[in-house]
Amino acid sequence: MYIDENRNLSGYSMAESEKRVCHRCIGNKALSKYIRTNGEMKRCDYCGGRSRSIPFEEFFDAIMDGVSYAYSRAVDELPVEHGEYVGKTYSSDELIYDELSEEINPQNERILDDIVDLMPDEIWCDADPFDNEVEDLDFYSWEAFCKMVREKMRFVFYRVNTDEDDPNDPIGILDRIAKYTQEAKLTRRIDKHTKLFRCRVFPDDKWPTDPGNYAPPKPEHAVPGRMNASGIEMLYLTLEEETAKQETYDRNREYAVVVQYRVEDPIYVLDLSRLDTMDLPSIFDRERRETAHAIKFLKQFADDISRPKVNVNIDTEYVPTQIMTEFFRYVRPKDRDRYDGILYKSTQNPGGKCLVLFMNREDVLTGKHGIHLNPAETHFYKKQYTEIVNDATSCAKKELLAKVLLQRYGNMPVKDIPASSVVAGKEKLG
Ligand SMILES: [Zn+2]
Repeated sequence: MYIDENRNLSGYSMAESEKRVCHRCIGNKALSKYIRTNGEMKRCDYCGGRSRSIPFEEFFDAIMDGVSYAYSRAVDELPVEHGEYVGKTYSSDELIYDELSEEINPQNERILDDIVDLMPDEIWCDADPFDNEVEDLDFYSWEAFCKMVREKMRFVFYRVNTDEDDPNDPIGILDRIAKYTQEAKLTRRIDKHTKLFRCRVFPDDKWPTDPGNYAPPKPEHAVPGRMNASGIEMLYLTLEEETAKQETYDRNREYAVVVQYRVEDPIYVLDLSRLDTMDLPSIFDRERRETAHAIKFLKQFADDISRPKVNVNIDTEYVPTQIMTEFFRYVRPKDRDRYDGILYKSTQNPGGKCLVLFMNREDVLTGKHGIHLNPAETHFYKKQYTEIVNDATSCAKKELLAKVLLQRYGNMPVKDIPASSVVAGKEKLG
């Protein structure tokens, strides 16, 4: 271990070696948790409080464990020219006060001073000073994959012999993406009673009352989308009603219908939307720090697949994400049940979330996968998205939707429409 070989023992003073530091004095979550788990209820020399604390020496070992994970000794890694190291270096002071103080986040300045006092007088450099970051290399591979399937070949790449070690091996990059999503723990359960939304837009107020209009289109009508190739059925939903409206906005078709689906059996999805707010694990977090690279790569990847389309040719623009979606639907992950879909961030409504479910029309309409249309919560909008609230026409249409759903598809509506609305609707229907 690094510390044993390198610690300058003569730098120890008795005062430092006897000090204790408590979990409350350290802002870094991983270090604080380490102290809480391994500490004893003894007085802390920094805040004076009695809470779980460890000897400062032990805390220093944990700091040096993180330091030796992310940094190396310059003398071991960097070439020397004209008596100086070639590459970025840090003195022990610079490393602790400039590079790591925010990450350690001590609640008392003396803690940093005491760390520096114990550190060997060393010149440091980054752990791999001349390697590109692995996540950047992976992102180049993903970009190469996108270019290949857009411009070179699309259907047979999995049979073309490539060197397994070639970073641009197309199967290799898909496998790595799947592996990273597992490492970053991106599986998310969408619980029972969650409301999901789907918006369709029309040129006039003849809003259709066949629930089929709000399910995935039949294969012969399935146009290509961000996640599905032409002819392949999937259900595009959103987690917020506003996102559904923004994602489908069309100024020539301002008469919108937003239907609500309700989750009756939990579904499991790959959640790429979480990456935006996911913190990178600290170098002091021994359990999670190895996943930092996976998370860094996936953040770039998730941005890339959610970005507004740039190419006018939709047939080629979405090919990479369509392939990736099929890969998650049918190939990976191997070690658990397949995902039911992918959650990703909305392009049109910042902060909103879109969900594509791997479900075909029949399954959706019959409620086979636990997603049920809820006709009572259908919202109708006339020109410029002015909502029509429970007038006779909209009530009648809700009732019809529920009736067709039950009669044709045997799918019991989630909730009955209020009796008064039904009466009003019937009059109008005549
Ligand atoms: Zn303390």
